[in-house]
Amino acid sequence: MSIDDRTESLEPSGSQSWSIDDAESLYGIKRWGQKLFSVDADGSLLVHPAADDRTIRIRDLLSGTHAPVLIRFHDTLKHQAHRLKRAFAKAIRTEKYSGSYYAAFPLKVNPYKEVLNALFSNWDEDDHPMSFEVGSKPELLIALSLHRGKRFILCNGFKDRGYIDLAIRASKLGKPVILIVERMSEMQYILDQSKVHEHLPMLGVRVKLYSYGEGKWASSSGENSKFGLNTMEVMKFCELLKTEGLTEQLRLLHFHTGSQIPDIRTIKRALVEASQFYCQLSSMGFPMGYMDVGGGLAIDYDGSRTREWSSMNYTMEQYARDVVFNIKEICFTHKVAEPNIISESGRAIAGPHAFLVIETMSVVAKSSELLHGFVSHSAPRIIRDLREILDNPGRYNRLERLYDARQKRDEAFALFNLGYLDLETRAAVESLFWRICMEIHGTLDESKFTPEELWTLDRSLCEQFICNFSVFQSIPDHWALDQRFPIVPLQRLDEEPTVNARIVDITCDSDGEIHDYLGELEHNQTLLLHKQKEGGDPYYVGVAFTGAYQDVLNTSHNLFDRTNEMQVWLDDESETGYQAVVNNDASSVSDVLRNAQFESGELVELMRKSLDSYENLDDALRADFVEEYSRQIRNTTYLEPR
Ligand code: PLP
Repeated sequence: MSIDDRTESLEPSGSQSWSIDDAESLYGIKRWGQKLFSVDADGSLLVHPAADDRTIRIRDLLSGTHAPVLIRFHDTLKHQAHRLKRAFAKAIRTEKYSGSYYAAFPLKVNPYKEVLNALFSNWDEDDHPMSFEVGSKPELLIALSLHRGKRFILCNGFKDRGYIDLAIRASKLGKPVILIVERMSEMQYILDQSKVHEHLPMLGVRVKLYSYGEGKWASSSGENSKFGLNTMEVMKFCELLKTEGLTEQLRLLHFHTGSQIPDIRTIKRALVEASQFYCQLSSMGFPMGYMDVGGGLAIDYDGSRTREWSSMNYTMEQYARDVVFNIKEICFTHKVAEPNIISESGRAIAGPHAFLVIETMSVVAKSSELLHGFVSHSAPRIIRDLREILDNPGRYNRLERLYDARQKRDEAFALFNLGYLDLETRAAVESLFWRICMEIHGTLDESKFTPEELWTLDRSLCEQFICNFSVFQSIPDHWALDQRFPIVPLQRLDEEPTVNARIVDITCDSDGEIHDYLGELEHNQTLLLHKQKEGGDPYYVGVAFTGAYQDVLNTSHNLFDRTNEMQVWLDDESETGYQAVVNNDASSVSDVLRNAQFESGELVELMRKSLDSYENLDDALRADFVEEYSRQIRNTTYLEPR
């Protein structure tokens, strides 16, 4: 008889009344997905890339590629950018604001070619097209070549002479460059190079506000931030401009309170303080004209609409109204002309466009099966004790039963180590122990006080879904900053998920897992997923809103590198309603080896040499091995599809 024939298992079964609404509510799809995601009658996840009725079944996109794959929805990028511009246009109309609004995209958020092409093409040049914000020389180089027409190029970040020289040359050619001074020391380069080129672009100044942000990026703001000029430096800067006869050049005031600001009150506070700066500079005789409110506009990753830092307690439309209203109020008090407003919202524009699809490769479950022989009266004493704890739930309270079970398990392990317990008995002890834990956990009631220790059984009891991806590569902010991302299966949403799961990646690092899911608790360590069927269809899980920062912050830990990518855009003329271009250009092993300073040719050579030390090696075997070695070097870094 095989082990399988001798086991009785404990399988949870789903309820018959499960509906798609239940799935939408469990995974929070309507809350975080807003108009961008829904579920069809077959239980498949749909994306609405332009937040309208046009939909794509995400699973259908996978036919020409294999997971892990990052899907970029170009229409979502454009939709978010248009939405932001519409929100400001409406706020300007409502508040009867006399200035205009310009949206600038910060390249640091996502400098990838496909993203920038989607964002910077197809704008009506007369309709205040999207401007560029750059924070480094490489970003400036990209912006200069993509730049057309009236778009601004806002030059932030630490600048050396070369950066400043290039910006001044570009401005001299006619590109609307604004050099934003972040440190007094930049002024010397600006003065020197402007003399060389007999030209000075428009200048801006970034101020250090006392108002500081909240959340994980708060340190980019406040008086201790490394960016911007403090009040005394602003005074010196103004004096310098005056003595150099450059008063006319100062056109912009800039501040940035940090990314993902969850609380609208933080934004209001900063706006009031920055507007006071603006009005003071204007009253001092600088022409000004532009107020750049930086980034910070958040994404409601968890859909909770709170000021938790993966969320936001305001909408994009409310943000635009508050920006316009607060600037207007302060300008009105000081009788200063209302400035044109620039915002550098990157996350809100780019975040929602990218969707990562990962595939479950296998599942590791706690074994709660029992070998039949171990339930009888003749079973060893330790087994009978555990069985008694399991079979008498009413006798002691849950915490006591858990402690008793732990004690019995510890005793069993001690006996095993001394050689008094065989493997079969140890297996039965483990299974009974997990059964007791499952039984206890199954009786917990959220509405009643329950010791934390019992809730946290969750994590030990759940199944590990091993998915073919790397957290470090695809969602580094989750690993580094505990940022929550929305996670949802792509299929079977019409079926009740019954397995308490943790998604773990394929890196050999215990941090390589998704450790916090959307849910009611502050930390939700598990997610309900579907029971995996032996030899069943692939089970895909999607991670939404990965389009901001993740592409550039990624790390190749364990040498897992870029995944496949797919570009998707709506096309009403095509039969499917969309077009998809697959770039199955995930990094190859040779790409990552190069980053680790190994050329693949050199490695193959070394490999051959290492075989030379084996005597009497069969030539065919040797050639075959070298060929396979070379093939693997050309392969992708992820697991091959099943
Ligand atoms: N502007 C500046 C100066 C920044 O440093 C950043 C990012 O931190 C941004 C804009 C983009 O911010 P967000 O992605 O929150 O819109």
